[in-house]
Amino acid sequence: MRKPIIAANWKMYKTFEEAKDFIKAVRYNIPDFDAVEAVVCASPVFLRKLVSKSKESHLRIGAQNMHFEDQGAFTGEVSPVQLKDLGVDYVIIGHSERREMFNETDETVNKKMHAAFKHGILPIMCCGETLAQREAGETFSWVEGQVLAGLAGLSTEQLQETVIAYEPIWAIGTGKTATAADANEVCGHIRGVIAKEYGQEIADVIRIQYGGSVKPDNIVELMSEEHIDGALVGGASLVAESYLALLAGAVPNA
Ligand code: 13P
Repeated sequence: MRKPIIAANWKMYKTFEEAKDFIKAVRYNIPDFDAVEAVVCASPVFLRKLVSKSKESHLRIGAQNMHFEDQGAFTGEVSPVQLKDLGVDYVIIGHSERREMFNETDETVNKKMHAAFKHGILPIMCCGETLAQREAGETFSWVEGQVLAGLAGLSTEQLQETVIAYEPIWAIGTGKTATAADANEVCGHIRGVIAKEYGQEIADVIRIQYGGSVKPDNIVELMSEEHIDGALVGGASLVAESYLALLAGAVPNA
């Protein structure tokens, strides 16, 4: 059975004080930590503090991006070695905002996936189509291409530990959620693609999240779908009560 994972993606929001208050409100109030995994992906400027503040709890901390090189002359970048040193457990790779605005490609996503595993950081790898691609009937082929390119060359163990986030771009920050059935259809397609490429055993354990306007009032319906193993959440993850409600909604049979 796949353990649901609810990951907050705070994007470029919050001051340090706000981040600390959030962690204090959430860390010992995770509704059922045996049944649902809670991750907060924050700005690198305060990751170390958030890691130390959540260390005794079941809350896990993640980054939102990283470079694929261990070190080098890459002004403004953060390396996997540095993230590991800060103590993060997860890193989001290939978010659509990075693909659209910061030249992230399938090739750099794949390099970052390998770099994350090399340094013991678990990747949450994002994929998803634009509205134009959806309307042109290209969703399955587009997402399939992103997933296979991103996962290329990973070992069986690494594949089993990978988290994939299916985030249709048209649903991000727009208030337009894919219907639970639509989201499940694409997540199921991704699982099928992985089964065909890597075998059913890997497909059965790999966790696939949905992301895009997930809120406390739609999480239960999304989580009732067979292939949706959690959510990557932007706006509704910024307020502690709302994030806790998302966790509660993701507990199986809640
Ligand atoms: P929203 O939940 O704000 O739509 O953002 C989704 C997202 O991009 C999470 O990575």
